[in-house]
Amino acid sequence: MERTLSIIKPDGVAKNIIGEVIKRLENNSIKIIAIKMIHMNKNQAEGFYTVHNERPFFGSLIEFMISGPVVVMALEGENVIKKYRGLMGATNYKEAEPGTIRSDFATDIEKNVVHGSDAPETAEFEIGYFFNNFEII
Ligand code: ATP
Ligand code: MG
Repeated sequence: MERTLSIIKPDGVAKNIIGEVIKRLENNSIKIIAIKMIHMNKNQAEGFYTVHNERPFFGSLIEFMISGPVVVMALEGENVIKKYRGLMGATNYKEAEPGTIRSDFATDIEKNVVHGSDAPETAEFEIGYFFNNFEII
């Protein structure tokens, strides 16, 4: 069993597709083991995306991530990191496979609806960033 951290980003929440994203998880036998809606401040978003702090898009990404509420979820399943990233599609929605979340709903390389951890180590850091032990089922 593996775990990953999912975020429905501010554009996804604003588009009223929280249910749509969750339906895709459930349809693919991915289990939600923690979930909450939060509105991050700048410090919180910068801490989460600290690996990207040298990238040219960092400032814009942080402004976007604090522009509205997000839904954070810890997910569990077999091979769930890769499986969920497969459901998300490529970072750039124009390159995302048809039928993926980003292909279906993203409108921008930055405003790409969802986040998913990219490796077991990042998943552990990211889940711990948002959830304590009592919040994970
Ligand atoms: P995420 O980490 O959000 O799941 P990802 O792993 O597909 O997405 P990363 O390379 O980790 O992509 O980039 C993190 C986020 O930064 C992207 O999801 C997107 O919102 C934003 N981003 C990435 N590349 C660019 C870019 N070239 N221009 C603007 N924003 C970008
Ligand atoms: Mg990433």
